[in-house]
Amino acid sequence: MSATPTGDPKLVERAKARAHQWLAAVDPSIQGFTFSVSHHLTYSEAPNLKLIEEAFRNHFKLILDSSKATTDYPNATVFDPKTDTQFLPVIKGNFAKLKKTLADTSKFTFVTAAFALDEAKGLFAAYVMGAGLGNPIRFTPDFNTCGPNCQAAIVLHESVHVFDSRSNDGPVHISEFDATYNSQTTDNAIHNPSAYSAFAQQVSLHRDTRFGQGPGKRGI
Ligand SMILES: [Zn+2]
Repeated sequence: MSATPTGDPKLVERAKARAHQWLAAVDPSIQGFTFSVSHHLTYSEAPNLKLIEEAFRNHFKLILDSSKATTDYPNATVFDPKTDTQFLPVIKGNFAKLKKTLADTSKFTFVTAAFALDEAKGLFAAYVMGAGLGNPIRFTPDFNTCGPNCQAAIVLHESVHVFDSRSNDGPVHISEFDATYNSQTTDNAIHNPSAYSAFAQQVSLHRDTRFGQGPGKRGI
């Protein structure tokens, strides 16, 4: 056993299991949402419709009609989930890649603080070198001190960096705690790692929990 601590593989496994639980709600939610919208169901006929509609608005900045536009989401785009070929295929594709990444143990690596400082020039809970290059996630000792929900949110966030080449771009990589998160454009939001993590939480937990790590936030 090494005397120098790294990110803890056991904590990462626990975080992956929780991330899987959240992800399990995503496909049924999108299918149910598409069905409900196509059949013009009301909120009382489709109990989860409002929740999923809000998750699409809050994180991917997609709304069902222009009457849903508010000053809080000035760059939201109107879409029809049944016919949309621009946004939903990207979102569904990225969620599928997320599951593949979680299942690939070679993408989960554990490093010391010294290694992270040398490679990433900073101490993060976890990081990926370069976006969309298939490089592994590095987990540092800092990860071990975050709460279990925060750790699961980090696993989802970092996994998007593994496969999405736009995920680290300035206008895309906006924290779910940032004041400009709500005004992100749809085109950028569908590549934002924080949006995938937060959307999965909301459709799974039925609340906009945003367990991710942020300024002063180590999570629960
Ligand atoms: Zn990131």
